[in-house]
Amino acid sequence: MQIIHKISELNALLKLQDNIGFVPTMGALHAGHIALAQVARKKNKCVVVSIFVNPTQFGPNEDFTRYPRTLEADCEALTHVDIDYVFAPSVEEMYPTPSEVMIQFPRLASVLCGRSRPTHFQGVGLIVTKLFNIVNPTIAYFGQKDFQQTVIIKRLVQELNFNVKIEVCPTIREVDGLALSSRNRYLNIQERGIAPVLFRSLQIVQEKAKKEKNVRVLVEYGKEFLSQIPEINLDYFEILNAYDLSEIELLDAPAVCAAAIYLGPVRLIDNILI
Ligand code: AMP
Repeated sequence: MQIIHKISELNALLKLQDNIGFVPTMGALHAGHIALAQVARKKNKCVVVSIFVNPTQFGPNEDFTRYPRTLEADCEALTHVDIDYVFAPSVEEMYPTPSEVMIQFPRLASVLCGRSRPTHFQGVGLIVTKLFNIVNPTIAYFGQKDFQQTVIIKRLVQELNFNVKIEVCPTIREVDGLALSSRNRYLNIQERGIAPVLFRSLQIVQEKAKKEKNVRVLVEYGKEFLSQIPEINLDYFEILNAYDLSEIELLDAPAVCAAAIYLGPVRLIDNILI
């Protein structure tokens, strides 16, 4: 496994590759990221994992400077997956000049996480576009954990005619159901004890949805469940069409039930398909 910091160096190494599996990450790797790398390893001749904490996807009051940076431990974890290249560029390498290009998703980014993070997905769109152009992957792997991101990236690929297949892999969880996240390390012991109720709220709605098809009733049921825990501040709890994140009144097509909560200063997201 080689660790590459320069775009030109990666370009030279990948020039003759005809099958590249790509896993973009922000590092602080956990078993969720590793699972993506393992799937990529199984299905591709060459595997690239990028580690880059992308400043353009953080809002002004978000945790860009405090985001965990653990490159050495990340590379150590990736050697066990036998990937070919870790691409870990600097901010200057990726953004040598202030960006004059903006990629926006007016409707897709206006719902769910986009409401409280209004510039997040344009930053994601920009960095994913740049990384796809640099790596030129055959298949790129993303986690269902960030469901809205997967819908947005599929749309980006479709509309901008990227020649890449997007594969979405299941969310990896702790035994108590909490979705693995680089931000879980910021939960104190009490918050960590409470955190699994987020997934639980999605599960009980999924269960109720076997009989109840009215989306408003189901959303109220999930919100009511979470409101019983005083430590939780709800950001959103919604059920939307799983393909285009449009609003629905009845469960008559594949839907996603997605929620975001604050536990202390930590924001947690999760989702389930119903
Ligand atoms: P991040 O480093 O948080 O930007 O995540 C990089 C990739 O890992 C994204 O495609 C995420 O959706 C995915 N990911 C993050 N957490 C998990 C998880 N618990 N299970 C599966 N994939 C995940």
